Amino acid sequence: MLIVYNPATGEEVGRVAQNTTHQVKAAVDRACAAFPAWSSRLAKERSDLLRHWHDAVKADKEAFAELLCRENGKCLSEARGEIDYGLGFIEWYAEEAKRVYGDTIPTHDRNANVLVTKEAIGPVAAITPWNFPFMMITRKVGTALAAGCTMVIKPAEDTPLTAFKLLEYARKAGIPEGVLEVVAGDPREIGLILTGDPRIRKISFTGSTGVGKLLAAQCAASIKKMTLELGGNAPFIVFQDADLDEAVKGLVGAKLRNSGQVCISPNRIFVQHSILEDFIQRVQHAVAGIEVDQGLREGFVVGPLVNQAGFDKVVRLVEAAKAAGASVLMGGRPHAKGGLFYEPTVLTGLRDDSPLATEEIFGPVFAIYSFKDEEEVIARANQTEFGLVAYAYTSALGRSLRLSRQLEAGMVILNSGSVGTASVPFGGIKQSGYGREGSYYGIEEYVQVKYVLMGGAHL
Ligand code: NAP
Repeated sequence: MLIVYNPATGEEVGRVAQNTTHQVKAAVDRACAAFPAWSSRLAKERSDLLRHWHDAVKADKEAFAELLCRENGKCLSEARGEIDYGLGFIEWYAEEAKRVYGDTIPTHDRNANVLVTKEAIGPVAAITPWNFPFMMITRKVGTALAAGCTMVIKPAEDTPLTAFKLLEYARKAGIPEGVLEVVAGDPREIGLILTGDPRIRKISFTGSTGVGKLLAAQCAASIKKMTLELGGNAPFIVFQDADLDEAVKGLVGAKLRNSGQVCISPNRIFVQHSILEDFIQRVQHAVAGIEVDQGLREGFVVGPLVNQAGFDKVVRLVEAAKAAGASVLMGGRPHAKGGLFYEPTVLTGLRDDSPLATEEIFGPVFAIYSFKDEEEVIARANQTEFGLVAYAYTSALGRSLRLSRQLEAGMVILNSGSVGTASVPFGGIKQSGYGREGSYYGIEEYVQVKYVLMGGAHL
């Protein structure tokens, strides 16, 4: 039995059964058996079922928000925001299901027509992390089911309850057995079953780069298509010509979301040296006004880290920074509330090769670096194996254009701290992975192109 604890209180939130190897294989069998019927349904029929699922979950939004808050630790207002974000994917792909267009190509043979069709790739599987237990599921499932794929999904062991609740509502909405299956249990073993089964034609994975590489290697044997949404090391650059109020607002919102446990969280904050002191003071002032607390209350609060390993990592990174001579301007230690709470921390005076700069922090830590000019900061921002997102604040149009071209990231966000929504292509480059989720690009990941030559017309 998998016992799920509230990271804010240590209390048990619920339990799910650990599936045996046999049960996981049976779920894969059901997904494979369901594929022919599901993929040959009319797009409108799939769309209608996704829409029913969307409406059923939306009607119980508060129950989902509370569960999310209790199993993940994020506050209620964030949980509600995640549910709106996640429902947006079901709604978006319920519509996109009807728009998987092919092509006709001017023929090279006067007796033939040349068509290009797009077909569902097959039964697929997904493995998701704990930081967005709702949205990660709906983003993958909504897209796959819309395209005509069936999906087996393995949620993170820290947060499986939301996934099983979503499954329950999918069934109530009429999404049949096999079309969506959720499994829980030993991650390595489930990963081996899903990647090792040649009938599963694609794996969509969101999580750490290390596990992503392992799964990619496992998928090589059956040449499975993959979408990999992996780790990040986002630069957040503030130029002296930026609107500083907006930059602070964007930074604090992006950094403290989910207590910093977000792949697109600003990891290295580069501030132009002429405004460094002013900017740091503004950040400290903004952060000082935010409470740290368990999330089952109104208003935004910084919650706990999700588990002991996450907490220990933040402690290790900050202690290493201190030992290397960083100046801690705020926080820098576990919070007095105890447990998995860590103080929102602001520090500066770090080298670019410190672990805080090279590793994903995944905690409420603002690591601030100064820079002199544009050329220098672009080079430093790109000095990472990751390439998920890069943020910059500047009022200069020419510079915005240069940044958009030169920053090595799948997503470049200028003068905003807000990235995701259903209508945009979310994803990274370099070791942050490949493939996109969201927008019309997202559904391309679940279809395969078929060229059809219809000859024999004897014109
Ligand atoms: P993780 O350890 O890689 O876990 C992610 C998922 O993989 C979990 O379901 C986990 O299962 C499973 N898993 C672990 N080992 C496995 C194995 N050997 N075979 C198959 N599955 C395995 O990552 P995490 O710590 O949960 O999540 C944080 C990471 O996700 C960060 O690096 C973050 O940047 C990344 N992330 C990326 C994005 C993006 O879109 N690029 C979004 C969010 C998070 P268990 O939970 O059961 O161990």
